[in-house]
Amino acid sequence: MRMQSCDVVVAGAGFAGLSAAETLIKAGRHVIVLEARDRVGGCSEAMLNGLGEKIDTGGQFVCDEMPLILDLIRRQNRRLITPAERGLPRALPAASVPEQAHPHPEAEAFARANEIYYDELRHVELTPDMADITVAGWIAQRTPDPAIRTAFVSIAECANCIAAARQPLWTLIAMHRNGPREVSEMQHFVEGTMHAVAATLADGLEGHIRLSQKLSAIEQSDGGIVIQTATGRIAARQMVLAISPIHWPEIGFDPPLPAATAKAGSAFSRGDVVKFLIRYERAFWNQRGWSGMCQWSEPSGIWFGDASHDPARPMLVGFMGGPSAAAFRARTEAGRRSLVLEELARAFGPEALAPLDYLERDWGSDALGLGGYSAVVTDPAARDAVAILQQGSGRISFAGTDLADAFSGYIEGAIWSGRFAAAQVLARLEGRTVSGSE
Ligand SMILES: Cc1cc2nc3c(=O)[nH]c(=O)nc-3n(C[C@H](O)[C@H](O)[C@H](O)COP(=O)(O)OP(=O)(O)OC[C@H]3O[C@@H](n4cnc5c(N)ncnc54)[C@H](O)[C@@H]3O)c2cc1C
Repeated sequence: MRMQSCDVVVAGAGFAGLSAAETLIKAGRHVIVLEARDRVGGCSEAMLNGLGEKIDTGGQFVCDEMPLILDLIRRQNRRLITPAERGLPRALPAASVPEQAHPHPEAEAFARANEIYYDELRHVELTPDMADITVAGWIAQRTPDPAIRTAFVSIAECANCIAAARQPLWTLIAMHRNGPREVSEMQHFVEGTMHAVAATLADGLEGHIRLSQKLSAIEQSDGGIVIQTATGRIAARQMVLAISPIHWPEIGFDPPLPAATAKAGSAFSRGDVVKFLIRYERAFWNQRGWSGMCQWSEPSGIWFGDASHDPARPMLVGFMGGPSAAAFRARTEAGRRSLVLEELARAFGPEALAPLDYLERDWGSDALGLGGYSAVVTDPAARDAVAILQQGSGRISFAGTDLADAFSGYIEGAIWSGRFAAAQVLARLEGRTVSGSE
């Protein structure tokens, strides 16, 4: 078989890889994008529910503080939908615990835990004695109140998709400092779907994208780089590896990555999240005075909110992140569905038990995904892992939301990272250097 050749191979057609490819193609480079799935978008994905409605089963929401994805949405002439907040949020204790047995109402515990999580954490100064402290360890020191601690762990596990007892505190502080400040990250969603934004971006790269092509090996030499897939080899001058470090053990690197780069890559762990999209005939939660937003202390890591496309299509969207997702996966299909609907009935009333459509998407067991919203650094000593990987290795630049300076864990971060990696590659092709602010 004849070896194909190009200037740059981009591996991974999530938002990071697509953004890198767009930048490189605009600069006049010959690019081939390799994607293991039979579709583009990565963690941005859309499916038809049982009512024939196309809905985002992966990345969906944006906020006013995300300029890159907002610009892309605007360029594609797509409209944003801002879910209306009608009514009050809810917070629930474990079903097994009578509400009156709590020292104070669960809503109060969640209100305090939300303040600590969203306002206080970003201002926490890390002292040397806190180097190894985990999110769970920190909140245990921060407050003696068990209800606030449990609520805080639940919020953290939903937002980060990893056990609070495994997540180094510094990773959470960094995320807060580089994430949304004034508004919720779930401020708007895109009419149509977010996946359509990725698909339209890919349409502009037509002819460059090869689907169902899983990268298996990378050989670097003085003369260039050769990429191996199941169906052939491609020679290139440079490469953007827009595949999370959690997948690198499946790729053969020849020569092996330098020790510091490999160590930085191995500091990342998979997250674990299940997303729920549940359609109802009526927004019964509003009629009872609830907004549709609810947080639970047990099972930990669950959050639901209203993501109705319009009043005619009432929908609750939910996430279960961290260890609860693994326990949930072990249940039968019927057991999973009844757990979720019974919890929603506890929150908003018995109408929750009879949805028009129930859809769950398990990302934790998706072999090509990130498990959660991104991979998370779980090695407390790996404070420089992102900075090391942003430097690339030889002819390879790395990209992905987990390597972003800002909005890591979001589509915004993936776009930033893809463009940053592309700028590095262009600089190498042109014999220049590139700085983080470019
Ligand atoms: C349930 C869920 C909800 C989310 N909600 C939001 C949200 O509302 N707003 C938001 O901003 N973000 C959200 N996110 C996060 C966001 O979707 C991701 O952070 C972002 O899309 C990641 O993009 P990426 O390009 O870095 O990685 P990915 O999307 O993971 O792309 C990497 C690509 O590489 C491919 N690949 C892997 N291995 C190989 C291989 N060996 N060869 C070739 N290809 C390979 C994968 O198939 C994938 O397509 C959500 C994520 C999930 C899972």
